[in-house]
Amino acid sequence: MSNTSIAEQATASVVSESPAIIERWKRDFSQTKTNGITYDYIIVGSGSAGAVVANRLSEQSDKRVLLIEAGGVDTKDQIQMPAACGSCQLGEIDWQYKTTPQLYSHFGCVNQQSNWPRGKVLGGSSSINYLQYVRGDPHDYDNWQLPQWSFQEMLKYFKKLERADPNAIPRNQHFRNHDQDNGMMDVTILEEPNSTNRLFIEACEKNGFHETKDYNAEGSLNGCVSMSQISAKEGKRWSTASGYLLTAVKRENFDLLIHAHTCRVAFDEQKQVSGVIVKRTSSLDKEEFIKGKEVILSAGTVGSAQILLLSGIGPREELQKHQIPMIVDLPGVGKNLQDHMMTILVYLTHIPTLSTRDLTPENLQKWATQGKGPLTSSGGESLAWCQLNGNDNSNKTQVPDIQMQFSPFTADAEFFRISNFKPEVYEQYLKPHLTDESQWTILHLPTLLHPESKGEITLASCDPLAHPIINPNYLEDKEDVRKLVEACKLVEKIFQTEPLNSTLKSMAKEMNGDEATENEDVFWESYVRKYTITICHPIGTCKMGKEEDSMAVVTSDTRVKGVRGLRVVDASIMPNTISGSTNIPTIAIAERASDLIKNND
Ligand SMILES: Cc1cc2nc3c(=O)[nH]c(=O)nc-3n(C[C@H](O)[C@H](O)[C@H](O)COP(=O)(O)OP(=O)(O)OC[C@H]3O[C@@H](n4cnc5c(N)ncnc54)[C@H](O)[C@@H]3O)c2cc1C
Repeated sequence: MSNTSIAEQATASVVSESPAIIERWKRDFSQTKTNGITYDYIIVGSGSAGAVVANRLSEQSDKRVLLIEAGGVDTKDQIQMPAACGSCQLGEIDWQYKTTPQLYSHFGCVNQQSNWPRGKVLGGSSSINYLQYVRGDPHDYDNWQLPQWSFQEMLKYFKKLERADPNAIPRNQHFRNHDQDNGMMDVTILEEPNSTNRLFIEACEKNGFHETKDYNAEGSLNGCVSMSQISAKEGKRWSTASGYLLTAVKRENFDLLIHAHTCRVAFDEQKQVSGVIVKRTSSLDKEEFIKGKEVILSAGTVGSAQILLLSGIGPREELQKHQIPMIVDLPGVGKNLQDHMMTILVYLTHIPTLSTRDLTPENLQKWATQGKGPLTSSGGESLAWCQLNGNDNSNKTQVPDIQMQFSPFTADAEFFRISNFKPEVYEQYLKPHLTDESQWTILHLPTLLHPESKGEITLASCDPLAHPIINPNYLEDKEDVRKLVEACKLVEKIFQTEPLNSTLKSMAKEMNGDEATENEDVFWESYVRKYTITICHPIGTCKMGKEEDSMAVVTSDTRVKGVRGLRVVDASIMPNTISGSTNIPTIAIAERASDLIKNND
C-alpha cells in the first residue's frame, strides 16, 4: 500500500512508543572507530547479501569484520508494517534512482522514465521490498552452468537460511527447514488473506493450473498457483537486518559504520586490496581511508558496479572517458543488466480490498499489538507461474516465462505517483470509476521472468555521490512484448472464468483510452508499452562466469578477475535472472559465498 501518510498519520504514535523498536539496536553506531584497525574483511552494503556475509564472516571470532552502509538504521515505522511498504519509496531510505527515458516502454510514465527504488538503510532492499518469498525455479540455477551454483548446491543454502513457520508451511525434510533455532529468515503465509485469493486460485485451476501448498518445494514452478509465502514474523517485516544483523552487532569482532558512502576500493602496486575510501554523510567533503585485507562488495546491482568502475575496474573506454586510472580492463562491468518487468492490470470489484480505508485506529492497534489484521499484507497475496507457448503447464523441464501476482489492493493516486506514472493515468482513466464508496480494485501483475532485452549501468561522472546512468532497455526486444501481450490475454481469460468473472470488471479498455482498435494484439501491445514498469529485481551487472568468459566480472568463487582480495556478493553476480522474486535467491547466494570465503575457496 503506497500512501505516505500511513506512518505519519497513524502508526507513529502506536509504533514509536514500542520499546522493542526504540531499543532495537542497543548500540550507538555513530561511536564506531576504525582508526588504526586493519580489518580482515570489509563488507560494503548491509542489504540482502551484505548482512548475511557480515554475519557469517563475523562468526569467526579471530577475524575483525567491518560492515559499511550508506544509509541509517531501520527503525522507521513504515519499514516494519507490510501494508506500508510503498511508503518506503521516494524518501530517505530509498536511493531514488531513475532510469534514462525508455525508448520502447513507459509510455504512461513521466518522461518515459522508471523510478528505480533501492533500499538505503540497514537491510538494504530487503527492508523496503514487498516481502514475496520465492526461491525461483530449480532449473534456473542449473541453467547457469556453474557447478558450484547448481540447484543441488543452492538447496543446502535455501534450507540453511530459512525458518519456515510450522503452522503455515508443510513439513518437507528434503526441501524445507523448520528448525526454529537454526534458520535466520522467517517465512510464513498471510494469516488473514483477502477472500478474492480463493476465487483467483479456483479460476486458475479451471485454466490448467494446479494449486500447491508449497511452491518452494516443487521441482518446477510451471503451472503452480498458491498463496504467497512472505518474509514476515508475527505480522511484521523480516528483513536481513532482523535476520542477520541483530545477532552480528552483539559480537566484539564486528563493527558497523552507518551513513558512510563507500567511494572506491584502494589497491597496492600488486593489485592487492588495501582498503576502501569512504565519505561520511556528516562530512561529505572529506575522504577517509579504512584498511582491510579483503573487501566484499555487496552494494547491489547499481552500487557494486558503480564502485568497481570508480575503483578503475571496468571497460577501458569508460574509465578513460572519466579519467579514472585503470586497474583492470573488465568489459563486463555494468553490462548484462536484466530486470523483471510487470504489466499493471487493474480490475474493479465490490469486494473490499486493502486500501487506505483500512487505516483505522482498530486495525493499527491490532497490527501493532498482535501482528494481525489487514495491515499485515503487502498487497501481493497469491502467485502463479506459467509457460506461454500453448500454455503447456505440464512442462516441468523448463523454466516458466511468466510469474503472475494477484494483488487485492486498491490503487490510489499515490500508487501511480511512486511508479512515476503521469498524473492523468489515475485522474482521467481510473478515478472517475472509483467515486462509489463500494468500489475497490484488484491489481494483477503478469511479470516477464526471462527478458531478452538487456541494458547497462554506466557512470554519469566520477563523483561517487552522483547517481550512475541506468538504462535497462526495457522491451527493446519484440519477443518480450509478445510474451507480455500473451500474458495479459491469459490473465484476462482467467479473470473471465468463474468464480472470478462475476466479481470483477477489467479496466484495460478505459486505461488504454486513446487506443481504439479492433485488433487484440495491437491493443495489448499499446497497453504493455504504457503500463509495464519494473518490479525491482535488477541483476547481472557484475556477472559471475567462467574464467574464459570475457564478459564475466567475477569467477565462480565470487572473486573479481584481475585483482586480489576483492569479491562481489549480491544480486549483481547472477549471470541470468531467475523465475521469481530475487530477495531469497540473493540471500542464498550470500550464504553460499560466505562458505567459499571462510574456506578461502
Ligand atoms: C521496492 C522493491 C520491492 C521488491 N520486492 C521484492 C519481493 O517482494 N520479493 C523479493 O524476493 N524481492 C523483491 N525485491 C528485490 C530484492 O529486494 C532485491 O533483489 C535484493 O534485496 C537485492 O539484494 P542486494 O544485496 O543485491 O542489494 P540491496 O539489498 O539493495 O543492498 C545493497 C546495500 O548496499 C548499500 N550501498 C549501496 N551503495 C553503497 C555505497 N556506495 N556505500 C555504502 N553502502 C552502499 C545500500 O544502501 C544497500 O543497503 C524488491 C526490491 C525493491 C526495491
